[in-house]
Amino acid sequence: MIAKPRKPKKCRVPECGASFVPKVSFQSWCSPDCAVVIARNKQDRQRKSLASIERREIKVRKEKLKSRADHAKEAQAVINRYVRLRDAHLGCISCDKPASWGGQWHCSHFRSVGAAAHLRFNLWNMNKSCSQCNAHLSGNIMVYRPRLVEKIGAEKVAWLECNQDLVRHEIPYLKRLKAVFTKKVKRIEQRYERGQSWVAM
Ligand SMILES: [Zn+2]
Ligand SMILES: [Zn+2]
Repeated sequence: MIAKPRKPKKCRVPECGASFVPKVSFQSWCSPDCAVVIARNKQDRQRKSLASIERREIKVRKEKLKSRADHAKEAQAVINRYVRLRDAHLGCISCDKPASWGGQWHCSHFRSVGAAAHLRFNLWNMNKSCSQCNAHLSGNIMVYRPRLVEKIGAEKVAWLECNQDLVRHEIPYLKRLKAVFTKKVKRIEQRYERGQSWVAM
């Protein structure tokens, strides 16, 4: 029986690409030098995928070590960002700075996180303010209140003021909150990138 002559192949080393006739069916290199290059590339790929597995494991371990307070902080950061985007077209809730003001914007809690932790993620309780009002004037609450009444109505403001619920935000809830608002923030940012105006969502 006569062996079928093998068809020529192209060397798999991209920088080489030479045509060769393989001696065995799985041969993908034209020469010993190219065989070494292929073997090295394969090792590199394996090392990289191992490193990425390790990175993932470290991330999982870190996630497990996070406390409830850590999760709350992360969720808060994302929701604060959401509020700043939601209120992008508005000026400071506590002073006369217009939306076009070029300084830093914060998210200011009407009832502070320290005094009313159960309202720390309540979207009525959170409004965009300039960094000066938020950081140096403790929210400038004398001006904040009437403007909040104008923004969301007296009933909701009264509800916020009277609310003394005891709420404990558990870790699964905080994780979900972070995930949901991360998605919302991404969607709004994409809209801005496409130059579309903000529509409440
Ligand atoms: Zn080659
Ligand atoms: Zn202000």
